[in-house]
Amino acid sequence: MTAPAFADAQAGAWHFFGTRHGPASASTKAGRLGLDEHDHPRPRLVVAVDQVHGTDTLVLDRPVSGREVFSGGWDSLVTNQPGVLLTIRTADCVPVLIHDPVHHVVAAVHAGWRGAVGGIVLHVLRQMAARFGSGATELTLAIGPAIGPCCYEVDEPVLKPLRERHQEWQSVVVMQGAGKGRLDLRALVRMQALEAGVEQGKIAVVEPCTACRADLFYSYRRDGRVVDTMVHGIMLIDE
Ligand SMILES: [Zn+2]
Repeated sequence: MTAPAFADAQAGAWHFFGTRHGPASASTKAGRLGLDEHDHPRPRLVVAVDQVHGTDTLVLDRPVSGREVFSGGWDSLVTNQPGVLLTIRTADCVPVLIHDPVHHVVAAVHAGWRGAVGGIVLHVLRQMAARFGSGATELTLAIGPAIGPCCYEVDEPVLKPLRERHQEWQSVVVMQGAGKGRLDLRALVRMQALEAGVEQGKIAVVEPCTACRADLFYSYRRDGRVVDTMVHGIMLIDE
């Protein structure tokens, strides 16, 4: 699955949002994805790391080899190296893929409620600006399939930090009585991108809700446990 408007603007980068039908996540650690290599540019290296629901970023700004081990936990990956496929895994959380076609940089972000409330997108955009000179108006950003407000009821432990950290919190939550509300995680991510200066027309949102669409996605909330995860990726293509 791709974000059409995003893909059109993606000269120099290749991206995909996975479904439960592929690519398979079990093999990403070993650097294989089981993708049909005739349909897309072939990655030199697939990077998959442990995700810890934090806001730290792994920046790869030098050539990396398949033998390198990235031990640690990160929820966002950034690189300026062509042929390095950055992957993240989700099962309700928001996958965000970012491309800077001017400075040739890509990023993959895993934003659960902790990351989204903690401002992970703002954090990544700051890193891209500091390390590579990426300006917000130069970026295109795709927000992938995630749990929708239709299925994502949250309570005080989520609402409290949301209220404290985001002035416009009411635009991303529909309250449902005392201490309960339905949170639109993708809208929260989009709000942060807009705040950072990303242009509205350069943000694509892939609509389906992971919990509603059992035919397409795994959903932690719907299944009550992690059955498996979807894999999403973005890579710079050699010019
Ligand atoms: Zn839903």
